[in-house]
Amino acid sequence: MPIRAVLWDIDDTLFDYSGAERAGVLRHLAAEGAALTGPGAADAVKRWNDVMALHYGRFVRGELTFGEQRRERVRGFLGEPLTDEDADAWFARYREHYEGEWRVFADVLPALEAVAAAGLRQGLLSNSAAAPQDRKLRRLGIRDRFEVLVCSDDLGCAKPDPAAFHAACMTMNLEPEEVAYVGDRWDTDAVAAAEAGLTGVWVDRSGASPTVPIGPVARITGLDELLPLVVGGGAAPGAPGGARAAALPT
Ligand SMILES: [Mg+2]
Repeated sequence: MPIRAVLWDIDDTLFDYSGAERAGVLRHLAAEGAALTGPGAADAVKRWNDVMALHYGRFVRGELTFGEQRRERVRGFLGEPLTDEDADAWFARYREHYEGEWRVFADVLPALEAVAAAGLRQGLLSNSAAAPQDRKLRRLGIRDRFEVLVCSDDLGCAKPDPAAFHAACMTMNLEPEEVAYVGDRWDTDAVAAAEAGLTGVWVDRSGASPTVPIGPVARITGLDELLPLVVGGGAAPGAPGGARAAALPT
């Protein structure tokens, strides 16, 4: 069955989330009077990443609201029992710096245009809340390139649950076999999509040799490699990503 649509992950696939978060927190800490360099900066970025992973994971599992996970990240990072108001104010100051760093990756616009020019439809599936993602995509100037924005907060289920992928396909009135899912996470995005019946494409921007077996997914190191996987029958074993994956030690 030919692929009729590409469904995209957003953060660290289209939008350089990690880059914006890294630069944003360092600018914010400098503005708060804690300019950091070298190991101090690396440590601060790691601690901010760690509290994000912890509390954003709780949000994805339904344990915290989107606003609560922000407050818990601030409290965890500072190690202080801040009031909601103080935590919100700290996060708002951080967010100004973070949003000042918002960018899409350089290969995104050419890839979106190539996919559209090939006659494929495009949508978004994100483990997030729709309102902030919609706002971000509009600020980045790419929201209108996608028919649908499907977010876990509305679905009540999240990737890697097959139900999240099936819901997004249903929103586009397509069968899973007609859809390729493209994401930066090997497990949560690509393998989960493949297990849900879609074509799973892992965007491994590190370009390093994978430390995990590739499994039933195609691996690309940039979005310029995507089109051959999704036109002309889709990615099968032996397609460019699969062939390269098969050549790698596992
Ligand atoms: Mg992602």
